[in-house]
Amino acid sequence: MKHGGESYMYKTLIAAVLGVALAFSGAGRAEAKTTFITIGTGGITGVYYPTGGAIAKIVNAKKDKYNIRATVESTGASVFNINAIMSGDLEFGIAQADRQYQAYNGLSEWEGKPQKDLRAVFALAPEAVTFVAAEDAGIKTLADAKGKVINLGNPGSGNRQNAIDVLQAAGINIEKDLKGEGIKAADAPRMVQDGRIDGFFYTVGHPNGNIKEATAGKRKCRIVSIPDIAPLTKAFPYYSLTHIDMSQYPEATNKDEDVTTVGMLATLVTSAKVPDDVVYAVTKEIFENLDEFKKLHPALAGLTREGMLEGLTAPLHPGAEKYYKEAGLIK
Ligand code: GLU
Repeated sequence: MKHGGESYMYKTLIAAVLGVALAFSGAGRAEAKTTFITIGTGGITGVYYPTGGAIAKIVNAKKDKYNIRATVESTGASVFNINAIMSGDLEFGIAQADRQYQAYNGLSEWEGKPQKDLRAVFALAPEAVTFVAAEDAGIKTLADAKGKVINLGNPGSGNRQNAIDVLQAAGINIEKDLKGEGIKAADAPRMVQDGRIDGFFYTVGHPNGNIKEATAGKRKCRIVSIPDIAPLTKAFPYYSLTHIDMSQYPEATNKDEDVTTVGMLATLVTSAKVPDDVVYAVTKEIFENLDEFKKLHPALAGLTREGMLEGLTAPLHPGAEKYYKEAGLIK
């Protein structure tokens, strides 16, 4: 009995000591609570995925200062990212500027459902609506896409609607005039090379590994110019003329051509529900480490602080705004 009583006493003492220790470490943890943020990107062969990785790398380097731990998720891209941010599944995401505009204003996929909590953070690299087509399919212009099997893009991507807009402007009905596929951009180069599709659309920054893969294969491919963009820029405020630097794709059959098309900026977006200090930290770290950030992917090389405030149609997140005011970038 005595023995048992002693052991009980010891146990109580140990439990008390442990309890105090746990309470202290618990309090310690609460003070240095890590905020986890996930950035939605796109397919792993795109530019969004490495760009998200570059943002995470720079933010995580300051873990001691902000206690933010950023991770990246490969997703279906723009439309998926916006919807996942709005439902609270992601804190940040990369989205085409046209998709940001449509979501905030209740257009396209968000017809009648404006996403009023969507917030802009900053713009990234420009993207170009890129139409890759197999030479043996005889596609030299948009009109030649008639009767062919063309990948327009997966639902959830930004580029699917761009493909539809561009084809429609050229008088091509995607239901009647061609066989439109809905596969992910990451799978498209292989499908072209295997002869299962004649071409594909990808709205992406350049240079891009996916387009390199498609143009460097055995089945020769070109990047089809979309020269007549006036109907598009007139109808849609977010499209603008852009050039694809063909020196980046030396194995494309039309490597010496001046390829023009429509494009827009890629942007980083978030939700009004994401705390100001988190968005402030992300914004500040990217702007103050811009030289390092630009080196993390060749498509980011042309970024400028001023350019990164363009193409933002949703309201700026207050956390980003605070940094831009401090940095004298806005009034
Ligand atoms: N612009 C593409 C889209 O949102 C994604 C491009 C990328 O992943 O780099 O559909």
